[in-house]
Amino acid sequence: TPAAYRPGVLPTPSANSPILLNFNENSIGMAPSAERAVVASLSKAFRYPDDQRAALVTALAGRFGVSEKHLSLGNGSSENIQAIVQALVQQARSRQQAVQLVVPDPTFNYAELYAKAQGVPVVKVPLTAQMLFDVAAMQRAAAGFDGLSIFYLCNPNNPTATLTPGKVLQDWVAASSDKQFFLLDEAYAEFVTDPAFVSGIEWVKAGRQNVAVTRTFSKLYALAGLRVGYALAAPALIEQFEAFMSLDNTNLAGAVAALASLQDKDFQQRSVSSVNRSRAIVTQALDELGLRHVPSHANFVFHEIKGSVKTYQERMKAQHIMVGREFPLAVGWSRLTLGTPEEMTVFVRVLKSFRQKGWV
Ligand code: PLP
Repeated sequence: TPAAYRPGVLPTPSANSPILLNFNENSIGMAPSAERAVVASLSKAFRYPDDQRAALVTALAGRFGVSEKHLSLGNGSSENIQAIVQALVQQARSRQQAVQLVVPDPTFNYAELYAKAQGVPVVKVPLTAQMLFDVAAMQRAAAGFDGLSIFYLCNPNNPTATLTPGKVLQDWVAASSDKQFFLLDEAYAEFVTDPAFVSGIEWVKAGRQNVAVTRTFSKLYALAGLRVGYALAAPALIEQFEAFMSLDNTNLAGAVAALASLQDKDFQQRSVSSVNRSRAIVTQALDELGLRHVPSHANFVFHEIKGSVKTYQERMKAQHIMVGREFPLAVGWSRLTLGTPEEMTVFVRVLKSFRQKGWV
């Protein structure tokens, strides 16, 4: 089990307490306000979580300026992604319409997994040389298809941490027909500081019937283990998605932790600034070592490793540091989660020692 975060103290990774930089978690740990809310909720945990879920939905609706009917809570945003894909596929099939999923490659693969489980073909469109979405190629993939195309677009993207500017998505959505659906995964949106970002929530609020946005409490809010996510879409869509969600899905502890975190602006700022400091530590080291990296807008960095990423992962593991992995189309690149600044300081020391050995 990793030790609790102690700001200012450099961790000593060991077999029992490795530095975990492999799953895009948030190593600063949950907000103290969230932890208190969880502890206080335990005495009520023998009841179903209706009231706590309702309070969270009300708070989220207020936060985004939408009605509660625009929202669906998930057991993590993974469940929202699953239900959205299932509902859209089921609906297309009930109209005798063909359906395909169009995704950039590489990207986060849950939509793909849920589509494949239903026998839906998946069109994977490679990223451009700058590791950005090849929008024209994705549009062509839909234009040449007689049926419904579901675009799964992760913004910022995972594993590259790249941003797709709002203008690009806006033009794409504006030009779309009802044979195109946009599933916009904004799991990392709260880390973005670049003003070019526009959330898909804007288009949901504008009444678009072919857009759904998913978000999560797993990243900025550091609640990955409590499983709270949500989707925003037009009320008629939310009703369809809800038919595929398990009832009472968000557990009571997760709901109260999410509500407390949502109200804790101080924690949110600490979370963003911690990631910004960690990113600066890592990118400075990568620059010094001449290892290329993609501009990161999230809590991870996609960077080059000279040599085999698998071997590099194993050598880091031997130092009790678990780093992320390679993705098939980007050979020689590794996704590194930004842990705490102290963890990244230790990581950088080890990385530089690898350079001295000629390993990276
Ligand atoms: N979407 C993206 C892009 C992710 O990277 C992840 C988790 O890594 C998820 C969704 C799933 O998050 P959750 O914990 O909300 O299910």
